[in-house]
Amino acid sequence: MAEYQDDNIFAKILRDELPATRVFEDDDTLVFMDIMPRADGHCLVIPKTPCRNVLDASPEQLASVMNTVQKVSKAVMKGLDAEGVTIQQFNEAPGGQEVFHLHFHILPRRQGDVLRPPGQMGDLDQIAAVADKIRKALD
Ligand code: 5GP
Repeated sequence: MAEYQDDNIFAKILRDELPATRVFEDDDTLVFMDIMPRADGHCLVIPKTPCRNVLDASPEQLASVMNTVQKVSKAVMKGLDAEGVTIQQFNEAPGGQEVFHLHFHILPRRQGDVLRPPGQMGDLDQIAAVADKIRKALD
């Protein structure tokens, strides 16, 4: 498997070299909105320390990220009035991974909804408004 490269987009977001709509952070993890949301409230949970994906992550990185995945999943249920949550995670390009810093997708769902196709830029104002609702539900 390839080595971790610190020029990936999420590493740049962590270093504040690229903007992101941040929702939550603690000592070990960061949550920000996906810029191409497949559902309203689509956000990403990443560790603050480097690893490509589940295959090279330490038990500590996985534990801290999953703890945050659960916390934010509960917040989207409450803050966005979601009825369910889809959690996605991809490993290496053949596994569907495009950004090589470990991340979990949180996709708020409602009965009968259909995910938007990947790769469609979202409306930044709308993403910011949804992020605000998630933040409030975390408080
Ligand atoms: P994956 O690697 O799991 O296939 O997906 C990477 C995700 O990162 C995609 O859902 C994509 O929309 C998102 N993404 C790609 N570039 C950026 C970016 O610059 N900012 C943010 N916030 N998300 C991004």
